[in-house]
Amino acid sequence: MGSELIRAFQRDVIEGSMESRKFFLSLKDEPRESAIAFCRWVVSNITYEKHPVIIKAAFDKLAHLRDIPSLEPLAQLREEWTNTYLNEYEYLIALMENAQTGAKCNCNVYQDGKFNVPPYQDDLEEIGTGKRDHDGFIQTDLIYVLCRTCESEWEVEIDYTYHYPHSHWRRNN
Ligand SMILES: [Zn+2]
Repeated sequence: MGSELIRAFQRDVIEGSMESRKFFLSLKDEPRESAIAFCRWVVSNITYEKHPVIIKAAFDKLAHLRDIPSLEPLAQLREEWTNTYLNEYEYLIALMENAQTGAKCNCNVYQDGKFNVPPYQDDLEEIGTGKRDHDGFIQTDLIYVLCRTCESEWEVEIDYTYHYPHSHWRRNN
Protein backbone atom coordinates (compact mmCIF):
# COMPACT_ATOMS: atom_id res chain seq x y z
CA MET A 1 0.00 0.00 0.00
CA GLY A 2 1.40 3.35 -1.00
CA SER A 3 4.33 1.74 -2.82
CA GLU A 4 3.14 3.02 -6.21
CA LEU A 5 3.15 6.49 -4.73
CA ILE A 6 6.63 6.03 -3.28
CA ARG A 7 7.98 5.01 -6.69
CA ALA A 8 6.26 7.93 -8.41
CA PHE A 9 7.55 10.33 -5.77
CA GLN A 10 11.14 9.11 -6.13
CA ARG A 11 10.94 9.33 -9.91
CA ASP A 12 9.10 12.66 -10.24
CA VAL A 13 10.17 14.69 -7.22
CA ILE A 14 13.45 13.33 -5.82
CA GLU A 15 15.04 12.48 -9.18
CA GLY A 16 12.78 14.56 -11.42
CA SER A 17 11.78 18.20 -11.45
CA MET A 18 8.20 18.08 -10.16
CA GLU A 19 7.47 20.44 -7.28
CA SER A 20 6.78 18.48 -4.11
CA ARG A 21 3.80 20.77 -3.41
CA LYS A 22 2.12 19.52 -6.60
CA PHE A 23 2.75 15.94 -5.71
CA PHE A 24 1.21 16.36 -2.27
CA LEU A 25 -1.82 18.14 -3.75
CA SER A 26 -2.43 15.15 -6.02
CA LEU A 27 -2.76 12.93 -2.92
CA LYS A 28 -6.28 14.16 -2.38
CA ASP A 29 -7.43 11.76 -5.11
CA GLU A 30 -5.79 8.78 -3.41
CA PRO A 31 -7.50 6.48 -0.91
CA ARG A 32 -6.82 7.60 2.67
CA GLU A 33 -4.83 4.43 3.51
CA SER A 34 -2.42 4.84 0.58
CA ALA A 35 -1.93 8.54 1.26
CA ILE A 36 -1.16 7.77 4.91
CA ALA A 37 1.20 4.89 4.06
CA PHE A 38 3.03 7.13 1.60
CA CYS A 39 3.33 10.08 4.00
CA ARG A 40 4.53 7.81 6.81
CA TRP A 41 7.19 6.48 4.46
CA VAL A 42 8.26 10.04 3.66
CA VAL A 43 8.62 11.13 7.28
CA SER A 44 10.60 8.04 8.23
CA ASN A 45 12.89 7.95 5.19
CA ILE A 46 13.59 11.58 4.38
CA THR A 47 15.23 13.97 6.84
CA TYR A 48 13.88 17.33 7.89
CA GLU A 49 17.37 18.71 7.73
CA LYS A 50 17.70 17.91 4.02
CA HIS A 51 14.11 18.41 2.83
CA PRO A 52 12.12 20.57 5.27
CA VAL A 53 9.48 21.49 2.67
CA ILE A 54 8.76 17.83 1.89
CA ILE A 55 8.61 16.81 5.56
CA LYS A 56 6.26 19.69 6.36
CA ALA A 57 3.97 18.77 3.48
CA ALA A 58 3.89 15.13 4.59
CA PHE A 59 3.05 15.99 8.20
CA ASP A 60 0.47 18.52 7.02
CA LYS A 61 -1.24 15.74 5.07
CA LEU A 62 -0.97 13.28 7.98
CA ALA A 63 -2.47 15.82 10.38
CA HIS A 64 -5.36 16.56 8.04
CA LEU A 65 -5.92 12.84 7.54
CA ARG A 66 -6.02 12.61 11.35
CA ASP A 67 -3.35 9.93 11.51
CA ILE A 68 -2.87 9.82 15.28
CA PRO A 69 0.25 7.54 15.27
CA SER A 70 2.10 10.29 13.42
CA LEU A 71 1.76 12.61 16.40
CA GLU A 72 4.80 11.03 18.00
CA PRO A 73 7.27 11.45 15.10
CA LEU A 74 5.92 14.99 14.63
CA ALA A 75 6.47 15.71 18.32
CA GLN A 76 10.11 14.63 17.90
CA LEU A 77 10.67 17.39 15.36
CA ARG A 78 9.63 20.13 17.75
CA GLU A 79 13.03 21.72 18.22
CA GLU A 80 14.14 21.56 14.62
CA TRP A 81 10.88 22.82 13.18
CA THR A 82 9.89 25.45 15.72
CA ASN A 83 13.12 27.24 15.23
CA THR A 84 11.40 29.45 12.68
CA TYR A 85 7.86 28.21 12.18
CA LEU A 86 6.30 27.81 15.60
CA ASN A 87 2.72 28.51 14.59
CA GLU A 88 2.71 26.19 11.58
CA TYR A 89 4.03 23.37 13.75
CA GLU A 90 1.68 24.01 16.67
CA TYR A 91 -1.22 23.93 14.23
CA LEU A 92 -0.38 20.42 13.02
CA ILE A 93 0.10 19.25 16.61
CA ALA A 94 -3.31 20.74 17.48
CA LEU A 95 -4.97 18.92 14.55
CA MET A 96 -3.53 15.61 15.68
CA GLU A 97 -4.28 16.12 19.36
CA ASN A 98 -7.84 17.09 18.48
CA ALA A 99 -8.20 13.83 16.52
CA GLN A 100 -6.64 11.94 19.42
CA THR A 101 -9.27 13.26 21.85
CA GLY A 102 -11.91 11.64 19.66
CA ALA A 103 -13.21 14.73 17.87
CA LYS A 104 -14.74 13.62 14.58
CA CYS A 105 -13.58 16.61 12.55
CA ASN A 106 -11.10 19.49 12.58
CA CYS A 107 -13.61 22.29 13.29
CA ASN A 108 -12.35 22.80 16.88
CA VAL A 109 -8.92 23.67 15.55
CA TYR A 110 -10.02 25.63 12.50
CA GLN A 111 -12.05 28.05 14.60
CA ASP A 112 -9.23 28.65 17.08
CA GLY A 113 -8.16 32.22 16.34
CA LYS A 114 -4.50 31.58 17.07
CA PHE A 115 -4.01 29.42 13.98
CA ASN A 116 -5.43 31.73 11.31
CA VAL A 117 -6.73 28.84 9.20
CA PRO A 118 -7.93 29.77 5.71
CA PRO A 119 -11.35 28.36 4.79
CA TYR A 120 -9.96 26.41 1.84
CA GLN A 121 -9.61 22.92 3.31
CA ASP A 122 -10.38 19.58 1.67
CA ASP A 123 -12.79 18.63 4.43
CA LEU A 124 -14.87 21.77 3.96
CA GLU A 125 -17.27 22.63 1.19
CA GLU A 126 -17.65 26.22 0.10
CA ILE A 127 -21.35 27.12 0.13
CA GLY A 128 -21.27 30.84 -0.46
CA THR A 129 -19.31 34.08 -0.53
CA GLY A 130 -19.94 37.71 0.35
CA LYS A 131 -18.39 41.04 1.27
CA ARG A 132 -18.66 43.14 4.40
CA ASP A 133 -18.03 46.85 4.73
CA HIS A 134 -16.36 48.24 7.84
CA ASP A 135 -16.51 51.96 8.52
CA GLY A 136 -17.25 52.53 4.86
CA PHE A 137 -13.71 51.99 3.59
CA ILE A 138 -12.41 48.60 4.67
CA GLN A 139 -13.99 45.66 2.93
CA THR A 140 -13.53 42.05 3.98
CA ASP A 141 -14.33 38.86 2.11
CA LEU A 142 -16.76 36.38 3.56
CA ILE A 143 -16.50 32.72 2.70
CA TYR A 144 -19.22 30.37 3.92
CA VAL A 145 -18.18 26.77 4.38
CA LEU A 146 -19.77 23.55 5.52
CA CYS A 147 -17.84 20.86 7.39
CA ARG A 148 -18.39 17.65 5.45
CA THR A 149 -18.15 15.65 8.70
CA CYS A 150 -20.12 17.48 11.41
CA GLU A 151 -22.16 19.66 9.03
CA SER A 152 -21.38 22.83 10.94
CA GLU A 153 -21.61 25.95 8.85
CA TRP A 154 -18.99 28.63 9.28
CA GLU A 155 -18.68 32.21 8.21
CA VAL A 156 -15.01 32.92 7.66
CA GLU A 157 -14.20 36.58 7.35
CA ILE A 158 -10.94 37.31 5.60
CA ASP A 159 -9.27 40.55 6.48
CA TYR A 160 -6.52 41.76 4.14
CA THR A 161 -5.45 44.76 6.18
CA TYR A 162 -2.59 42.85 7.83
CA HIS A 163 0.70 41.77 6.26
CA TYR A 164 -1.02 38.56 5.25
CA PRO A 165 -4.73 37.63 5.22
CA HIS A 166 -6.32 36.95 8.59
CA SER A 167 -9.23 34.49 8.78
CA HIS A 168 -11.85 34.90 11.49
CA TRP A 169 -14.21 31.99 12.05
CA ARG A 170 -17.77 32.30 13.31
CA ARG A 171 -20.33 29.56 13.63
CA ASN A 172 -23.18 30.17 11.21
CA ASN A 173 -25.77 27.60 12.32
ZN1 LIG B 1 -16.74 19.86 11.70
